[in-house]
Amino acid sequence: MRLLPSAAAVGTTLGAVALSGAIAAPSPAAATTTTTYAVTHASDPYSGRSVVVRWTPCMTVGGVTTAATISYAVNTGGDPTRVALVQKALAEVAAYSGLRFRYVGKVSYVPHYAVLHYPSGNRLMFNAAQQRAATHADLVVGWVSATKTNLFRGGEAGVGTVSWTGSSRSQLRIVEAAALIKLGVPLRAGFTTGASVGSLLLHEIGHAVGLDHVSANSQIMYPVLGSYTRSSYQAGDRTSLRLVGRPAGCFRTAALAPPNPATIASAAGIGVTL
Ligand SMILES: [Zn+2]
Repeated sequence: MRLLPSAAAVGTTLGAVALSGAIAAPSPAAATTTTTYAVTHASDPYSGRSVVVRWTPCMTVGGVTTAATISYAVNTGGDPTRVALVQKALAEVAAYSGLRFRYVGKVSYVPHYAVLHYPSGNRLMFNAAQQRAATHADLVVGWVSATKTNLFRGGEAGVGTVSWTGSSRSQLRIVEAAALIKLGVPLRAGFTTGASVGSLLLHEIGHAVGLDHVSANSQIMYPVLGSYTRSSYQAGDRTSLRLVGRPAGCFRTAALAPPNPATIASAAGIGVTL
């Protein structure tokens, strides 16, 4: 995609999870091997190499390493007890990835796509810049009605998305993300096996730190919730969390601002719905 000048790159992924039976399950039988872990790779303009798309776990500048923190806000959808669910899920992510998270408060902001109106058709792009400006958080976790955001497309129970950017002066990394649970989906309370809100949170927050779907239903990152779903990250999930976490190493360059669809539309001379 030619969305930015050649020295820069932006990207986004969207992963959704469905309740078993709600939509057609992917067919693991079609694959020749069963995958238990998966992360996203992208071309890094800084190094010219394909790299794992991940957050900044730490910065090493002048021989001094400092830990970075990912600030997060919660849109509780009217139930303040959900903050504790998010904190529990992020504590598990932190334990296996070494990433650090910092709670900055409740928000009413609803993460969504901007729509870029290209002559060839509309393209969707996560509105990372607007989310950052509205929430002052790197990550928003929320409970949102199906009709309130275009991140939901159909029968999914939740979605998770990341926005990354890099340039010749800044190593490619995730700079903004969202994980949403759809209100009204029947889920078990807490972190239990089966289709529980805790398992769904772990899955969508997994996307928000760069994890992709796998074909083994023993793992949290399997794309359909069912009776087989576990209540915590399993061996493959933990491998993915290490690949996107502190064990993957510190960055040496400062991060860029979150990608801004308005800027990209302006540069392309096209309209945009923010
Ligand atoms: Zn998913």
